[in-house]
Amino acid sequence: MIPITEVRFDDEAENLVLDVLRSGHVAQGPMVERLEEGFAELAGTRHAVAVSSGTTALVAAVEALELGSGDEVVTSPLTFVATVNAILEAGATVRFADVSLADALLDVEALGAAVGERTRAVMPVHLYGQPVDMEAVAALAAERGVAVIEDAAQAHGARVGERPVGSYGVGCFSLYATKNLTTGEGGVLTTDDDSHADRLRLLRNQGMRTRYEYEMAGHNYRLTDLQAALGVAQLPHLRATTERRQANAAFLSEVVDGLPGIEALVEHAGRTHVHHQFTVRVTGDARASRDDAVSRLSAAGVGSAVYYPRAVYDYDCYRDHPRVVIGESPRAEQLAREVLSVPVHHHLGEQDLEQIAAALQEVFGG
Ligand SMILES: *Cc1c(COP(=O)(O)O)cnc(C)c1O
Repeated sequence: MIPITEVRFDDEAENLVLDVLRSGHVAQGPMVERLEEGFAELAGTRHAVAVSSGTTALVAAVEALELGSGDEVVTSPLTFVATVNAILEAGATVRFADVSLADALLDVEALGAAVGERTRAVMPVHLYGQPVDMEAVAALAAERGVAVIEDAAQAHGARVGERPVGSYGVGCFSLYATKNLTTGEGGVLTTDDDSHADRLRLLRNQGMRTRYEYEMAGHNYRLTDLQAALGVAQLPHLRATTERRQANAAFLSEVVDGLPGIEALVEHAGRTHVHHQFTVRVTGDARASRDDAVSRLSAAGVGSAVYYPRAVYDYDCYRDHPRVVIGESPRAEQLAREVLSVPVHHHLGEQDLEQIAAALQEVFGG
């Protein structure tokens, strides 16, 4: 079976972890600092702050902006649930703006319409590794006086023109096991703003400035040096692994191009898509339904997945939540019925790609 994601570490990663083990310094320390330096370079920002997960990165981002009760954050309804949970955890209210059908990304016009009097921040999600139109989002945010928090959990190294994601406000990356760069669990925040970076560092470590001097009610959101070692080992290879993903995606695009009823998501010229996932829309004209396709691909030895099977608000726990404002997002709901992701990761070999192509032909080529 060709898995939708695969995790492999090289000797360099093993050796760096062993170095940390033998150093006796396993909590947050010099290896976390090295990881932060790498991410600041990747995002082109003055600061990077490593934390325990992508989710805690998002919580800390909202808290660093001092948002809370009554303040709204507008985000995408087609995202992983952590985006919503983080806003709620920080005490703010979530509002949704619909995505566009062509690329599954937050629609900037819908975003403009959703931003209201209580909005304090917008949280675009670079879904599947493709950046949202951040120049338009940044212009909108500046005009309306709201902050930008990027959910870049799936978009390490993605760029708009030459400008990296994570540099438009506060950027939040995830280092979870399935992500393009992983430490098992982990997250990183990036920002150019000195005061936000300062607050993030305090929030991460119990609100503590110097030993037993507390400036705010904080958290333990620290990453360990053991985890950071894995990330430090992967950073120098990120460009090459991303290029593998991009080449794999280009191959798969050609395969699905000829399949009736299968629509590849639009890849925008001028944006660097890092292909966390390769995702197509299985429309009503396709030769197999989306859900049949998952089991038939599996029978052909090809793992696939649906990101995500429902709009993120479409669960009772959010429908009934006093701090979740739902509105209408018909395009996100349609995409939730249509999207299907097949393996695109950087460990795929030529034979794997041929097998995926043949399976797609068999299921959808008719
Ligand atoms: C993975 C992910 C997160 C959360 O990251 P964790 O490290 O799993 O906490 C948030 N948003 C999106 C879009 C993600 O894909």
